[in-house]
Amino acid sequence: MKIAIVGFGAAAIGFIEKMKNTDHELHIFEKSKDIYSSSISGIRADGKLFVSEGMGGDLKVDVKLQKQFVDYYINHSDTKNVETGKSFSNDGYYKKFYEKGFLPISADFYHIGTDQLKQVLYNIYEDFNSHKNVLFHFNSEIKHINPTNEKVILNEKDSFDRVVICVGRSGHKLVNNLTIKHPDLILDNTNVDIGIRFELPNHIVEELNKEMYEFKIKYKSKTGYMVRTFCNNPSGYVVTENYGDFFTVNGHAKINEKSKNTNFAILTTVKLTQPFNDPIGYGSHIAKLTNILAGENKVILQTYKHFKNSKRTKNLYRVFPTLEKEKYILGDINLAFPRRIIESIVDFIETLETIVPGVANADNLVYAPEIKFYSNKINNNKFSNLKFMGDCSGATRSIIYATAHGYMIAEEILNN
Ligand SMILES: Cc1cc2nc3c(=O)[nH]c(=O)nc-3n(C[C@H](O)[C@H](O)[C@H](O)COP(=O)(O)OP(=O)(O)OC[C@H]3O[C@@H](n4cnc5c(N)ncnc54)[C@H](O)[C@@H]3O)c2cc1C
Repeated sequence: MKIAIVGFGAAAIGFIEKMKNTDHELHIFEKSKDIYSSSISGIRADGKLFVSEGMGGDLKVDVKLQKQFVDYYINHSDTKNVETGKSFSNDGYYKKFYEKGFLPISADFYHIGTDQLKQVLYNIYEDFNSHKNVLFHFNSEIKHINPTNEKVILNEKDSFDRVVICVGRSGHKLVNNLTIKHPDLILDNTNVDIGIRFELPNHIVEELNKEMYEFKIKYKSKTGYMVRTFCNNPSGYVVTENYGDFFTVNGHAKINEKSKNTNFAILTTVKLTQPFNDPIGYGSHIAKLTNILAGENKVILQTYKHFKNSKRTKNLYRVFPTLEKEKYILGDINLAFPRRIIESIVDFIETLETIVPGVANADNLVYAPEIKFYSNKINNNKFSNLKFMGDCSGATRSIIYATAHGYMIAEEILNN
């Protein structure tokens, strides 16, 4: 069979790994210029790999398969040097958080680090490229996909027996165009996670960082909204993320270079119901409003006390940001965020303070907006010769789950 793989990210890696030793001809179309491009693949920042049944996607992935892919990525690093941790394997911690209303999520973590990831991706690419049936086409953005009964046509010229789309979140335009033509591809699109990135001195969360590396908790706040932590970065850095027409915050950590602060996201899940059906539009508008207040391409930074009391921050004290100075403005996030979201986050932090003293210190830092969009959940049964895998399918939200999804779809194709 002649198979096209659109996008070379985590899901494509799982797919190709399963297919590379078969007779099928695999054509990979990647919009980035080459393997060194800074925009290629979601596997280029942080590289925190985890094995968990409670996060990473709405897909059942056997934990053995998850661990197999963790080892796969680590084995493709030059040093095999990673940081590790176990979230809530210690019963004492589990009970302490549970008692205060948190839902602790169990997971094993392996942190490769932003600095090592480029090499990992390159080594995987080199391996695939050495197979005669694996053909890479860089600088090849796919803009049109036309599934017919027999073949799938790409960009109105090349035809394939099968096409797998794995364009991640950055490829949302391509998926949107398809869902406009085939609205019954969409199964669900109601959620968006809106929140902040929190930054505080390492010593306050030192014990948790040492014990787990990443602590994953969920919490039903007094507003009724679910709030969760996401992407904890011990000794890490806060960065901004460019979505094209707005900027958000994110965080990462390196394996060699360390800061004095820990950062993690605190996200509120907003579930919108009929007649509203545009969570991406809702989240984008909040992000844009925050950017308008901060000035072009900037995010807002505020101390926790001012965030809680809705006052503009003018000075910082004791805790200083790891985000570069030209990327933020001191301001008031309350001017951009709905009250219910702010109340949910404050409730979360105040409750966490009862377990981790110092979390609610007045001078800790709050950055906004941090927004996680969920891709539409796609109905993968609609076409037999066109499948969606990884984050663009709405089924995954992490490197390991996306890789496993690609692998499982390849298995399905081979079995049929
Ligand atoms: C800043 C950041 C940090 C993250 N850190 C972590 C982490 O530490 N741990 C973790 O588990 N997850 C992390 N994630 C999430 C993780 O990167 C994704 O869940 C995962 O990469 C999804 O894999 P994917 O294959 O679906 O998409 P991706 O890995 O994003 O790959 C999609 C590829 O498709 C290409 N593409 C897009 N559109 C087209 C088109 N039209 N034609 C051709 N090519 C196209 C893109 O250039 C890209 O190379 C992070 C995400 C971000 C943004």
